[in-house]
Amino acid sequence: MTTLSPVPTQREIVLTGDRTTGKLHLGHYVGSLKNRVQLQERYETYIMLADVQALTTHFDRPAMLAESVRQVALDYLSVGIDPEKSTIFVQSMIPEIAELTVIFSMFVTVSSLRHNPTVKHEAKERGYDDLYYGFLGYPVSQAADIAAFKASLVPAGEDQIPHIEQARKIVRRFNELYAPVLVEPEILVGERLNGLDGGSKMSKSLGNAISLDALPEEVSAQIRKAKTDPARIHKTDPGHPEICTVFGYHSIFRQEGCEEIRENCMKGRLGCAACKAMVTEAIEEVMRPVRERRELYRHREKDIDEIVMSGTAKAREAARRTMGEVRGAMGINYF
Ligand code: ATP
Ligand code: MG
Repeated sequence: MTTLSPVPTQREIVLTGDRTTGKLHLGHYVGSLKNRVQLQERYETYIMLADVQALTTHFDRPAMLAESVRQVALDYLSVGIDPEKSTIFVQSMIPEIAELTVIFSMFVTVSSLRHNPTVKHEAKERGYDDLYYGFLGYPVSQAADIAAFKASLVPAGEDQIPHIEQARKIVRRFNELYAPVLVEPEILVGERLNGLDGGSKMSKSLGNAISLDALPEEVSAQIRKAKTDPARIHKTDPGHPEICTVFGYHSIFRQEGCEEIRENCMKGRLGCAACKAMVTEAIEEVMRPVRERRELYRHREKDIDEIVMSGTAKAREAARRTMGEVRGAMGINYF
């Protein structure tokens, strides 16, 4: 785990990405996208459209990948990922990642994957009991994504902590076994945003998300329905901000004034409807520039395809170089 460090002496590498399982939401923004926009100024940044990782849960619905790859690319540009500064690429178009995954899988034990708390949690959430090989192994594939670019920093949500730990172990093992050519990554953990239904993480698959392309009226309608303190029936009832989803949003999206809101809620002076109107405005501060940038890109499908294709070509070169070193380190570059 790390916090934003001072300007690095040489340009280090950031890698991160998102599963192409649908449009991105505010949870992605808070947990990772926001940090990426800052990091791209100082790091060589690779951002991956993780379509192979999407297949681990959506292999029976491949048609949605093509749509989602473009949607997520548009989301990236809308939040301020700058294609001049960041390389956006498609995971499945980098075969070197798949090669590295196979090599890594030789020395990762099944029990270490089974004990990965995020894998366990997601398997439970999805009702899997007999795990697919690809799903169980996705942290290995993720370690290959990161190692293929020699990334030293991965901005991601807290659910990714076990995966980055696993990636560190894999890289360490590789470097000890063969030669120290790979880089151990660290995670830059973003904030966690809960879903509108309270409790669980905001997630595409749980239907509790505010999509980054939501219109102002959609955002306010969704916030109006958001779960609050269930003990609060009348406006004057004392509230419990510590368990209220909406107060959680205030503390994430508001620069100042949270203490006053907390106090007024606890004393029954601020009703839920007014509190929700305030949080909607704070969220709109974030959404407005995203919406404006989306307008600029919305009808430029060809340009977006071009950005992703040239990003993928550049990323492929980098991964190819690493694979050359990997083969050299292992002595499997026979001819
Ligand atoms: P899916 O349901 O398909 O798994 P997801 O909404 O969980 O989708 P991912 O693509 O798995 O999204 O996550 C991409 C990145 O966004 C990861 O770094 C993850 O930690 C982060 N992230 C996703 N949801 C949240 C959230 N609610 N709060 C903070 N970070 C999040
Ligand atoms: Mg997820």
